[in-house]
Amino acid sequence: MNRLENIKNALRDIPDFPKPGILFKDITPVLSHPQLFGDAIDLMAETVEGQKIDFVAGIEARGFIFGAALARKINCGFVPIRKPGKLPYKTFREEYSLEYGTDSVEVHRDAFFKGASVYLADDLLATGGTAAAAAKLIKKCGAEVSLIGFLIELSFLKGGEKLISFPVKSLIRY
Ligand code: AMP
Repeated sequence: MNRLENIKNALRDIPDFPKPGILFKDITPVLSHPQLFGDAIDLMAETVEGQKIDFVAGIEARGFIFGAALARKINCGFVPIRKPGKLPYKTFREEYSLEYGTDSVEVHRDAFFKGASVYLADDLLATGGTAAAAAKLIKKCGAEVSLIGFLIELSFLKGGEKLISFPVKSLIRY
């Protein structure tokens, strides 16, 4: 079987988590298996082969896991995009709407140099609100979003529509 099929087979569906009606894609069986985790990072890296990437930005919390490993793999820096109030230095903040209410993400103002090429990474694309806000933050810092990469995309939630102005690459789509 190919690498993607093996990763897909290891993902675990948890119904009604964290609330009724949500089918949660549990990535922990992939992370705990060295071959599968390594393959996932290799496949994400292959999507930017030959492209100049200065930073990988990962979205808290699961985007840190994939983003940090990917940054090492492609030999560039890692920048955390965090929930509000977590970063110690001056930040930019971007708010986005949820089903009920709003949430926001923050990044250090000096995280990127002007014109830097950034790979934005997260584990999963659902409605796209989080990734769209993170991409706006990167642009606020004067950097470029060269690719938004996900392990998984729930395409029926149409999150790609919120990311229309960016190149998006998801390895596994449902
Ligand atoms: P969204 O802003 O709706 O695209 O949500 C994306 C974030 O929520 C990602 O960081 C995911 O980790 C998490 N997420 C949303 N839906 C799911 C799901 N069905 N299974 C696992 N994680 C999810």
